[in-house]
Amino acid sequence: MEQFKGKSAFQGIAIGKIAEMVKDSKVVRREHVEDAEAEIKRYHEAKDRAITELQGLYDKALKEVGETHAQIFEVHQMMLEDDDYNDSIENIIKSQLVNAEYAVATTGDNFAETFAAMEDDYMRARSADVKDISERVITDLSGGQGTGNVFTEPVILVADDLAPSETVQLDKSKVLAFVTREGSTNSHTAILARTMNIPALVQVPVPKDVEGKMGIVDGFTGTVYIDPDEDTLTKYQMQQDKEKEKKALLAELKGKDTVTKSGRKIKLYGNIGGVGDVGFVLENDAAGIGLFRSEFLYLQSDGYPTEEEQFKAYRTVAEMMAGKEVVIRTLDIGADKQIDYFNLDHEANPALGFRAIRICLDRVDVFKTQLRALYRASAFGNIDIMLPMITSVWEVEKSKEIMKEVRDDLSAHQIPFKDVPVGVMIETPAAVMIADELAELVDFFSIGTNDLTQYTEAIDRQNQKIERYFNPHHPAVLREIQMTIDAGHRHNTWVGICGELGADPTLTETFIKMGIDELSMSPSSILPVRKIIREMD
Ligand code: PEP
Ligand code: MG
Repeated sequence: MEQFKGKSAFQGIAIGKIAEMVKDSKVVRREHVEDAEAEIKRYHEAKDRAITELQGLYDKALKEVGETHAQIFEVHQMMLEDDDYNDSIENIIKSQLVNAEYAVATTGDNFAETFAAMEDDYMRARSADVKDISERVITDLSGGQGTGNVFTEPVILVADDLAPSETVQLDKSKVLAFVTREGSTNSHTAILARTMNIPALVQVPVPKDVEGKMGIVDGFTGTVYIDPDEDTLTKYQMQQDKEKEKKALLAELKGKDTVTKSGRKIKLYGNIGGVGDVGFVLENDAAGIGLFRSEFLYLQSDGYPTEEEQFKAYRTVAEMMAGKEVVIRTLDIGADKQIDYFNLDHEANPALGFRAIRICLDRVDVFKTQLRALYRASAFGNIDIMLPMITSVWEVEKSKEIMKEVRDDLSAHQIPFKDVPVGVMIETPAAVMIADELAELVDFFSIGTNDLTQYTEAIDRQNQKIERYFNPHHPAVLREIQMTIDAGHRHNTWVGICGELGADPTLTETFIKMGIDELSMSPSSILPVRKIIREMD
């Protein structure tokens, strides 16, 4: 047995035969041509066909993995239109009187080398892309369709690197895992693999002679085992069986309604921190997104994310969810989520301090930027806006005033948006006590049990020393949940739970009996909770 370690791009276990990726790269010969203009024309015709092909791949990827990941094929189309790239090819043909294949291959190699030498990770990853587009044109010029990679049985696919177009063209049902010797965890291939839910490793020094050998890919530790011994094989078979059990549960419940035996329907939604999590939400068949913690966009950035950056993220999520409800919570920083560039003062009691809506109502420009992005994105799907850490009626009224200013401005500039439902998080005891008044102002409530427990029981949720006092099952919290549901329903306001307690299987039945309308949780909990609900009377 041999074992090789690299970096994990996506988790999971795969056991099976290894196949080395057959590259479509042609041996390109340098040939003399008499008529340079005719050769340039031949190049442009091949390039145009390649662009059409890429459009087809874009459409396919859009359906399979969503806009963000499909965008790479738009980038490839743009790269093929790039003036520098085209000038270089035309120049080589004209000055050296050589065939288009040779000019494309040389240009592709030169550009790839330049990208590979760059400091920036993103630019380095573009090296594979420029090779990819050049290969595509060369394949067309030489009249080939490419050998393709057709497997009769599912395989662990090993390659030096994988171009995004190669990844998307593969028959996914025949690929157990991707292992590349090069590549980065940021490459589009890695991202695509992740979204396709196939274990993927990069930068693994797998030798060249592995074709047909037995292999194990451990996407948790980033290890590949070649010709595994009995013990290793048994260990991984057991781990894989456990995964399969989970998957069987998924398969059995996917596509089914979340409904009790007596016919009560519950909205079972997923919680996300960013665009990258939407794949999990879809994979676990959530009916919507009940909490998009938008502050992660701010936490991942070195400066305030622009309106455009936020718009893109919200729009992508809305589009990927294809008309399903997406509740986006406005910025909730402060307390445990500190961001340097906000330059917030040090506070003795940050959990009781300047956080969430309090920051937004103080720094209205930051709030407005986010609201503009949210309203603009609303035109592309079914977005709801949710306000965090509400304790008073005036905070909601003031927020709604600001929202109106944003809408008026968008209307004045004829920028489309929808009449977005507005909700509040119920995560402070004050909000519970005034839930009737709040319900008159909003379309929905979502109970944040993490903070509600903290504030009800006067227990800092970050303080490990008092962890044993943190009891989300405390009767006070459960009563508050009941009070919130009742108040909401008195005013036709739907009520959900998006804190961790929403996924607690020991309470699912209790919540449903209390009258909860929606439960939002981390995607992996969705199907197990659906199972409980479907078995309930
Ligand atoms: C909560 O408080 O329950 C909640 C969902 O919000 P967060 O955990 O992000 O504070
Ligand atoms: Mg909270």
